[in-house]
Amino acid sequence: MPTTFSSLREQKRLSPALPLALDLEKILLRKVGEAVGRFKMIRDGDRVAVAVSGGKDSMALMEALLALSKRAPIEFSVCAFTVEQGKFLRPIEPVGEYLRSRGVDWTYHRDNPSIRLIDERPDHGCDLCSRYRRRAVYQIARGLGANVIAFGHTADDFCEALLRNALFTGRLSALPAITYSRERDFRLIRPLVFVTEAVTRGFAEHRGIPVIPCGCSHKTGTVRRSIRDIFAELEVDHPHLKENLLSAMGNLQPSRLLDTRYLNAEEEAAEESELLQITAR
Ligand code: SF4
Repeated sequence: MPTTFSSLREQKRLSPALPLALDLEKILLRKVGEAVGRFKMIRDGDRVAVAVSGGKDSMALMEALLALSKRAPIEFSVCAFTVEQGKFLRPIEPVGEYLRSRGVDWTYHRDNPSIRLIDERPDHGCDLCSRYRRRAVYQIARGLGANVIAFGHTADDFCEALLRNALFTGRLSALPAITYSRERDFRLIRPLVFVTEAVTRGFAEHRGIPVIPCGCSHKTGTVRRSIRDIFAELEVDHPHLKENLLSAMGNLQPSRLLDTRYLNAEEEAAEESELLQITAR
């Protein structure tokens, strides 16, 4: 079923009397609830470890899952962890203090192999960095007794990934909303799939959530920057662009694409002639 994705602007129009902070929280919780439900991301008895990067997205995700854990009809617990790879531009401790003040069990892990990597190979790319981080993440989650790991990738990340893969790698794919680790010992979920960064940014600002910048966020590659620029330019005249892209990702028409694994020309032809007969009547 295609995603219906009403924007922040629409929400504001529908409920102008509500303070913006409350609007944002409602949108965040509704969208996260929609993703969790649609993709069956969280199940009874789960222990969910949220990968907190120090940015606005993962902090918003943490708050949303915390709220859902208190009102969901199933029982699940939430904890948080942060992997230090030597790239934070400020001390991460305010994030820990904030999470503890919210009653969250937060684990901080300084990943020495990653830190050594910066010294030994300062020009290492994202692939190696991600591989080191993944190893640390699984190790921490295992130690926390978690069976689910939640990541803070947003609707913006999904849209950018779709465009990047289509334009630069020749694949029509974005990110998995739900998948499993290679050994299938962890369910990996991205509950912010329907939440834009406009929402996480506004939510974090209104809540006074501490955000720690990552040194790499300034140099995330020319391709990513170009794609962000394309969106920014188009969104001036077409503000619902990302919502439409998200809908498209949930509404495939394989017969209008070129992957022969999903083509069934005979069935398609039968449908077409049936349609012609109906319209001719
Ligand atoms: S942007 Fe920086 S922190 Fe992120 S994956 Fe690449 S090297 Fe690692």
